Amino acid sequence: MEFKHFSHPHSLGIYQAIQLSNEHICSGCESIISGSAYGCWDCKFFLHEQCGNANRAMQHQSHPMHHLTLIPSATYSTGNFFCNACGDTGSAFSFCCPLCEFDLHVPCAFLPETVIHQAHVHSLSLGYALPPGQYYELSSYVCDICQKQLDKKRFWSYNCFACNFHAHTSCATAKPEPYSAAQNNKEESQNQPEQTEIEDPVLRTQLELQRLQLEIQMAQELANMMSSFNLSSLV
Ligand SMILES: [Zn+2]
Ligand SMILES: [Zn+2]
Ligand SMILES: [Zn+2]
Ligand SMILES: [Zn+2]
Ligand SMILES: [Zn+2]
Ligand SMILES: [Zn+2]
Repeated sequence: MEFKHFSHPHSLGIYQAIQLSNEHICSGCESIISGSAYGCWDCKFFLHEQCGNANRAMQHQSHPMHHLTLIPSATYSTGNFFCNACGDTGSAFSFCCPLCEFDLHVPCAFLPETVIHQAHVHSLSLGYALPPGQYYELSSYVCDICQKQLDKKRFWSYNCFACNFHAHTSCATAKPEPYSAAQNNKEESQNQPEQTEIEDPVLRTQLELQRLQLEIQMAQELANMMSSFNLSSLV
């Protein structure tokens, strides 16, 4: 099967992770390809499925005033754009509002509303940067995963407000397994679609939580029994 993408003159084939070594970089978001990808082998041009399938235009909740247009490379004089979600620069694909010089990496534009991360028992919800003028008193935040500074005024974050837990989008969406380990385990990662990798820790966390709750309950019941026993023996 062959595909056409507006950013590349040749038709693209689809490649599985097993055919791609970790030197292959996505020409859309400039990060390493894992999973299947669109590619033009001769040009060493590859796109994540998500980057290759992204529509030319989108309306994003974080920028409700204007729609965003997918452009293949930054149009600013520096050749780079500054991602309003994660704060990193990019020089490839951008969902751009040229009026506001608002840009998003493709993966940042598709960040899920909520994620589960092993570092926290509750699901974390995505929060956008606050529009200028709405900067209420924000104390300085530290990412509870990497312990580095987190600028919630300017960039997006994943949060559990009940627990005051905050994290960088990149930290909260990082896979628990280090990348090199995933590479050494190509067969396994090929057989397991990404979703099961995400779902497993959720299930594990839930089961762990249930087990703990049961333990607490049993301890409490035991304590109640003991105290009632002590009381009645005193009478
Ligand atoms: Zn990509
Ligand atoms: Zn090509
Ligand atoms: Zn970004
Ligand atoms: Zn705009
Ligand atoms: Zn972090
Ligand atoms: Zn929490």
